[in-house]
Amino acid sequence: MVYKPKLDIADLYARFASPIANVDCGEICRQFNPSGKPFCCDICVAVPVALKKEWTYLKANTELWHRLHGDECPSDPIDLPKMQAETPHYMHLMACKGPAFCERDYRTLSCRQFPFSPYITADDRLIGLTYNWDFEEVCWVISNLDQVSDQYRKEFLDIYDHLLFEHPSEYDSYYWLSEDMREHFTKTGRSIPILHRDGSYYLLNPETDELTPIDPHEFPKFGPYL
Ligand code: SF4
Ligand code: SF4
Repeated sequence: MVYKPKLDIADLYARFASPIANVDCGEICRQFNPSGKPFCCDICVAVPVALKKEWTYLKANTELWHRLHGDECPSDPIDLPKMQAETPHYMHLMACKGPAFCERDYRTLSCRQFPFSPYITADDRLIGLTYNWDFEEVCWVISNLDQVSDQYRKEFLDIYDHLLFEHPSEYDSYYWLSEDMREHFTKTGRSIPILHRDGSYYLLNPETDELTPIDPHEFPKFGPYL
C-alpha cells in the first residue's frame, strides 16, 4: 500500500497564519526591487511550490493560483522541464496572480515559511529555523532576525514538527537542504544563524552543529539593510 501523509491543509493554514514581524516587511523590501514587488512575491525572483494536496485544496477554494507555465516572467523565462526535474515528486511548481491580488488565507506553506526552513542537525534533530541563504542580499527579514515574533516561530515549529512527522519525504528534503547549508557555510567560513525552538538565538558551527548563543541584534546584515 502506498503511504499517504495525513494532512489537513485548511487546519495547517489556520495554525500558521501569524505575520513574521510587527512590520509589513514587504513594504520595506519592495523599495529595493526594480519591479516594485516584495522579492518573495516576484515570480522573476522566487518560484513558489505547493504540496500536491495543497494544490487540490487551493484550486477548490480560490482563483489565485495556477500551475507554473514557465512564461510568467517574460524577461527571464523558466526552463520548466529542468525546474520540474529538480522539484520533489510530491510538489507542484506554482504561480499566483501577484501581490496586488494576494489572498492571505490562501497563501501556500512556501509563502508562509519564506525565508525560513527547518534546520535539521547532522544527527537528525529539528532544532529550529534557519533561512534560505540565496536571499540574503534582498530579504529584509534575514537582516532583521531579532524582529521575528515568538508567535511566528512557535507556529512554524508546530507546523513543521507535524508536517515532517507525517511526511518523511519532506523530512529528508529538509535534512539534505540543511546538509547543503552546512557545506556552503563551511566552505565560506561562516556560522549558521538559528532561531532555536528553546526561544533563544544561536550561531551554529556548520562542521560540528555546536551552538553559541548570540544577541539577535548581532546577527549579520546584508545588501541594502547594512
Ligand atoms: S519575507 Fe523577505 S522578501 Fe518576503 S516580503 Fe518579507 S522582507 Fe520581503
Ligand atoms: S500568494 Fe501572496 S504571499 Fe504568496 S507569492 Fe503570491 S502574492 Fe506572495
